[in-house]
Amino acid sequence: MRLLLIEDNVSLVELIAKGLASAGFEVDTAATLAGARDAIAEISYAALILDIGLPDGDGLSILREMRGRGEATPVLVLTARGGLRDRVTGLNDGADDYLVKPFAFEELIARIHALLRRPSDFLGKLRQAGNVAFDTMGRQMYVNERPQPLSARETALLELLIGRVGRVVPKSFVESHLFGQSEEIRSNAVEVYVHRLRKQLADLGATIEIHTIRGVGYLMTEAKA
Ligand code: CA
Repeated sequence: MRLLLIEDNVSLVELIAKGLASAGFEVDTAATLAGARDAIAEISYAALILDIGLPDGDGLSILREMRGRGEATPVLVLTARGGLRDRVTGLNDGADDYLVKPFAFEELIARIHALLRRPSDFLGKLRQAGNVAFDTMGRQMYVNERPQPLSARETALLELLIGRVGRVVPKSFVESHLFGQSEEIRSNAVEVYVHRLRKQLADLGATIEIHTIRGVGYLMTEAKA
């Protein structure tokens, strides 16, 4: 499989290209946006590895152009900037995955294999409310841009509510989302998970709240300052 590595750091290019070749990939390289555009116009690559900081501009502009043309080639973005804001921008631009420099080479190979397995129309989305974000692809919660662990059911609950901020979610809907149909559900099971998630959010200093609307369901809102 043929990959295009778009990166201007010569020693990094040598290192990555050599490693990818020994992992069985064919690798073309481009050190500029212009070079990358020429390569993409000529060859249909299995995936792109894209550095953001290039001498003639922002690597993400290549991504926007490709997605604008409806090209779904998987793109792994390499960035020295690990901040959540850059992740949001990149995901909105249609990146499939990220790797923050410096990274372990094994990690790069693993991510590329995952990208090539993934249906190419599958793009992750980041949902945000207050200082909390949820990455629907990595199924990871961030509070103040730091990843925070949650159990599987707390994660499912957060995902459900953060996608519906300001709207009341019926309890029966939460129940069916959190528990399989065949599962025996105790009458207070949903409350238990709401209580746990609420406590974790409070402990982490999150600026979102989960309100119980008696007899109806649950409502997530951004906390008033
Ligand atoms: Ca660079």
